[in-house]
Amino acid sequence: MTGGPLRGGPGEMDTAWEVIVVGGGAAGLMAAAAAAARGRRTLLLEKNKKFGVKILMSGGTRCNLTHHASPREVADQFRGAARFLYKAIGQLPPQAVVDLIEAEGVPTKVEATGKVFPVSDRAIDVRDALVRRAERAGAVLVSGVAVKGIARDEIGFRCLVEGGKFTAASLILCTGGKSYPGCGTTGDGYPWAVGLGHTIQPLHPALTPLLSDEAWVHELSGLTLPLVGCRVPFAAERSPVVSRRGALLFTHTGISGPEPMNVSRYYTASQCLAQPWLQIDFLPERTKDSLVADLRQAAGTQGRMAIGNWLERELPERLAGALLERSGLPRGQRLAELPHAQLYALLANLKECPVRITGTKGFDKAEVTAGGIALTEVNPQTMESRLVPGLYLAGEILDVDGPIGGFNFQAAFSTGTLAGRHA
Ligand SMILES: Cc1cc2nc3c(=O)[nH]c(=O)nc-3n(C[C@H](O)[C@H](O)[C@H](O)COP(=O)(O)OP(=O)(O)OC[C@H]3O[C@@H](n4cnc5c(N)ncnc54)[C@H](O)[C@@H]3O)c2cc1C
Repeated sequence: MTGGPLRGGPGEMDTAWEVIVVGGGAAGLMAAAAAAARGRRTLLLEKNKKFGVKILMSGGTRCNLTHHASPREVADQFRGAARFLYKAIGQLPPQAVVDLIEAEGVPTKVEATGKVFPVSDRAIDVRDALVRRAERAGAVLVSGVAVKGIARDEIGFRCLVEGGKFTAASLILCTGGKSYPGCGTTGDGYPWAVGLGHTIQPLHPALTPLLSDEAWVHELSGLTLPLVGCRVPFAAERSPVVSRRGALLFTHTGISGPEPMNVSRYYTASQCLAQPWLQIDFLPERTKDSLVADLRQAAGTQGRMAIGNWLERELPERLAGALLERSGLPRGQRLAELPHAQLYALLANLKECPVRITGTKGFDKAEVTAGGIALTEVNPQTMESRLVPGLYLAGEILDVDGPIGGFNFQAAFSTGTLAGRHA
């Protein structure tokens, strides 16, 4: 898979490609397959030795490749970018992604959360399927070649690489974002896009763990809760502010897991730094009223029961202990003798527990980059730049970022395919 046209030296470098795809990740592999399938002479350049490094490490090396949902439901996860994505995701919906991966001999499964994985739980099977598909379509995939710069003239685009250049009439930029820079994603595409006239919406990390300096949080390190709600108590966007439901993990530096990571984008956006609080709903399936009713009933029938015992029916012991302490309640306090003020403090800690957020793990540990090429400058019907004919943009380099659940790969696969179908 390495070498390709470079083997022949500079002469072959000057081959007039019809389409060059820069970046061999999720979007680039799809784009190359789609362009080559139309008979376009297509070259893909990837700077890593391996294609699809993020695919390989995704989903804990299991690769959550998409989400079992309608195209509309998937697009709507991208908030302000939803309308932009309708066409792309409509053209290559989740079921089409599943079908094409399965057609490569990789069966998939839907987990209870709606996340789709290969049955093998091996991300490499998905990566290999995408590489195989692009190569079979006729694309030339070259790894270990970093593009150093992009230039444009009347013929098309020149991709400058060490020792020469490749030229093509159409260029598809799929260089991803700038998160997990160790994977090769160092934001190379942004300055090229700016050089060609594009605007970059401010870049900030998303899907990254949150830091907190609160000792009680650190003391719960290692505890995982399968279902919590997280509320960002400042108006970063239109209402509802943010309240999702998923798992949370306490760490020795703060909180992680899908749910806190999903809201991390709001803490890395500069306008939010003034109010760095997160509210956690530890019992998202219970209302305050139902908890009060339960407590009253238990106090009537089992008044001697300790509040600690009652709470441990709802929550793990360590968390129950921490929340009682925060509410000023001894674990052994009898239900029949609960002081009102402490009872209401406990309810508040159960349903909207404030946690001070002092930062995040940043781009180094962010699964995606928020911000990117302004969507108003890209045609959503084709992914072609509205400013530079022949330039196409797909995947995470665009100003799109979705929650955990396979949504980000789906957006990359769909925008990459749409670009490849038009480039
Ligand atoms: C740890 C981790 C786990 C994740 N798990 C999931 C998951 O389970 N499900 C999900 O939906 N999403 C997941 N994501 C997010 C997902 O990986 C990205 O949204 C997706 O890979 C974006 O696709 P892309 O093609 O735009 O960019 P990428 O996949 O990042 O590909 C960009 C490619 O461009 C190459 N490149 C960059 N600069 C150059 C250059 N100058 N020359 C040549 N090549 C270059 C890079 O090396 C890279 O291979 C995860 C991300 C991380 C970091």
